[in-house]
Amino acid sequence: MSAAYQDKAARVLRRPADLAAAGLARGESLAALQQVAARYAVAITPAMADLIDDADGDDPIARQFVPDARELELRPEESGDPIGDVAFSPVEGIVHRYPDRVLLKLVNSCAVYCRFCFRREMVGPGRGGLTPKALAAALDYIRSHDEIWEVILTGGDPLVLSARRLGDVMRRLAAIEHVKVLRIHTRMPVVAPERVSAALIRALKEQDKACFVVLHANHPRELTREARAACARFVDAGIPMLAQSVLLRGVNDNVESLGALMRALVECRIKPYYLHHADLAPGTGHLRTTIAEGQALMRALHGRYSGLCQPAYVLDIPGGHGKSPVGPNYLGADGRVEDFNGRRHAYPPREESCGYAASAKKTAVSNS
Ligand code: SF4
Repeated sequence: MSAAYQDKAARVLRRPADLAAAGLARGESLAALQQVAARYAVAITPAMADLIDDADGDDPIARQFVPDARELELRPEESGDPIGDVAFSPVEGIVHRYPDRVLLKLVNSCAVYCRFCFRREMVGPGRGGLTPKALAAALDYIRSHDEIWEVILTGGDPLVLSARRLGDVMRRLAAIEHVKVLRIHTRMPVVAPERVSAALIRALKEQDKACFVVLHANHPRELTREARAACARFVDAGIPMLAQSVLLRGVNDNVESLGALMRALVECRIKPYYLHHADLAPGTGHLRTTIAEGQALMRALHGRYSGLCQPAYVLDIPGGHGKSPVGPNYLGADGRVEDFNGRRHAYPPREESCGYAASAKKTAVSNS
């Protein structure tokens, strides 16, 4: 581990008193922040702390990482497991919600703790991760289900692991014949770009399955020179990158920020994949938008920004029912299609349909 890396790790802000000393505590009393920090983990890396312009105002980076007394306000619709991971976890560390893929949650810690995190009741420093025995059981589960085509390494942030440990897991997964794709979900290239080392790239490359890295980024300012260089290390090594972002009030809920984020990602050779509607995680109501607001933003992106800059706007349905695209919809019930200027156009209907549409219709009828 390099001296520069150790120095940055030592400078991570974890306690309200650290935040106050760094000038990052908001106007709230320290006592309220201590109450928030006692309930939900806090960590702000130097890369993110350096980006915050105004902790007391509406800085979009501060809103993502600096605790807020409003996190103590719980709403009845919120849940500690808002996307229903637990109901679909057959063994520790595995979430098997969709037939052809599983989540493998290796660790329960992250480099930063996002104030809107959907797993905020499950992640935190010292929460550890899978023990060697639990990891072996999780791998056995994947091995014994030959419908599993893709494994998504998530957490927490799997890139908190050393390159050696991550490489070991990647090799063991790649050795499973029916697993063809390995995907890593991470915030690390943005929040601690120094972690994207040559050893990490080697660990991801030294197996022969397709490997994708999916970056979580929410504001264009997160794509600093260092973050862009870290992403380039993956892409230059032949590891394709996608991005997922969370729609957050006061962070990216305006077309200028959202469009600039999508363009910055594409400029880094990262394809925007998902824009998540914020989940019903406890104490995050002040950061959520409405779905109608999200749809209006997606309409504003459509046509005015390149097709490369268009993520799918998705909602994880509470209760574990999976993700669904939530529009906007450009095809009206009258069969007319809306263009990017809001004008509607007729499209000629066809009597005959392809075999798939006919069989899907039959299935829908028999299921109803
Ligand atoms: S990096 Fe991901 S898992 Fe970790 S706190 Fe942020 S949103 Fe949650």
